[in-house]
Amino acid sequence: MIDEMTHSCGLIAVLGHPEAANLVYLGLYALQHRGQESCGIVSRSNGRLRAAKGMGLVADVFDQPKLDKLVGDSALGHVRYSTTGATQIENAQPILVDCSKGSVAVAHNGNLVNSLEVRAELESRGSIFQTTSDSETIVHLIAKSRMTEIEDAVVDALSKLKGAYSLITMTHDALIAARDPRGFRPLVLGKLGDGVAIASETCAFDLIGAEYVREIEPGEVAVIRDGELKSYFPFPAKRKARCIFELIYFARPDSVVFSKPVHVVRRDFGAVLARESGVQGDIVIPVPDSGICASIGYSQESGIFRDKGFTRNHYVGRTFIEPKQSIRYFGVKLKLNPIRGVVSGKDVIVIDDSIVRGTTCRKIIDMLRSAGAKRIHYGVTSPPYRYPCVYGIDTPNKEELVASKISIEEIRRFIAADTLSYLSIRGMLSVLGDEAKGYCTACFSGKYPVVHAAPEAAQLDIFKYSSINIR
Ligand code: SF4
Repeated sequence: MIDEMTHSCGLIAVLGHPEAANLVYLGLYALQHRGQESCGIVSRSNGRLRAAKGMGLVADVFDQPKLDKLVGDSALGHVRYSTTGATQIENAQPILVDCSKGSVAVAHNGNLVNSLEVRAELESRGSIFQTTSDSETIVHLIAKSRMTEIEDAVVDALSKLKGAYSLITMTHDALIAARDPRGFRPLVLGKLGDGVAIASETCAFDLIGAEYVREIEPGEVAVIRDGELKSYFPFPAKRKARCIFELIYFARPDSVVFSKPVHVVRRDFGAVLARESGVQGDIVIPVPDSGICASIGYSQESGIFRDKGFTRNHYVGRTFIEPKQSIRYFGVKLKLNPIRGVVSGKDVIVIDDSIVRGTTCRKIIDMLRSAGAKRIHYGVTSPPYRYPCVYGIDTPNKEELVASKISIEEIRRFIAADTLSYLSIRGMLSVLGDEAKGYCTACFSGKYPVVHAAPEAAQLDIFKYSSINIR
């Protein structure tokens, strides 16, 4: 899959460091793959919050003068790709508001499945929304809560929401990180000298020199104030539903998410596909970059030599001027070009992480044939993608998902491969061992862990789970 699906958001916060905003800026660089439409940073100094946001990539939005204004020893950052709400600056995050609870900044990753109902109810009670994003619903619920303490107000707000959220809230004196009880989206906790870092993925920690401690657990609300972290589990426990697509495609391979090293999991998916399919050929090549890790596993398991079959152009921008004389598959060719000397005359096993619409891999296969490949076996290291995601991944409509419309054999004919092999759901879950039941697989199975229904009764008894001093 090349750029057929996009992620929703990436988060990072740094507390207790004199260069907090600079480090958050760097962390956002590492998380850029999770969102490219807009980005923002809120910093805190002497209890005062300051924000800077813009449309575009982190490198385009922030420069040194902008960062210099974000003073303070704590900062919160966000990169966004819209899955709900329009592409506009008002929807950029963190959302910073002044309300009855003081200044509050909120950064959110995930999709709320009942945000429209909650929003309609809030509007009927007089709330005026500034943005079209579901994340603003959380801000209004916090502001409207009758709870006086900010952590109680955050829990009160979250108790009314359904769906996926990994959330970081910053106030004048606290930082609150929370994950929905199913834990759809990742969120990790790290140490940074005497301070604390929280991020969507550990690749952000590696860049800023933070040390990974653990996941923020599904259902956990972690409150950090005065260097102490207090952890609460205020909601009834639910069966976990971590997004397996984070491991298949979205997270960076150098990250640890859901306590799993992403590269190793992908490599194992490739090994299982090699065992399940038994397909033989002369060489294994990955579709860059998403098929690289799995192709290593396929090659190791099958004993078939792995080579570089494509060169990827990493410098393709968002827009380009197409030549007047049309070039076949211009868009894909700009990004990928087969290496003729590797594939010509060979039985080629191509490893990809998924097929969404099928149109891109059809072009890839045609390009490989033009480069002289004799037979092309397409190996996909996930099951057929049949159902759209409602928890924060931007997927096409069901009608556009090729596997929801036609059989695997028909897909093989459509993409013009000699053979087509998918990883089975059972094979995919076998890689995750005992924890397999704690993953969402709805886009393959259609079994959605959270349905679009009325909010559950709130359970607001906050009980203290643990208290550790981070210093
Ligand atoms: S539906 Fe698929 S992409 Fe969405 S959360 Fe579940 S596993 Fe992830």
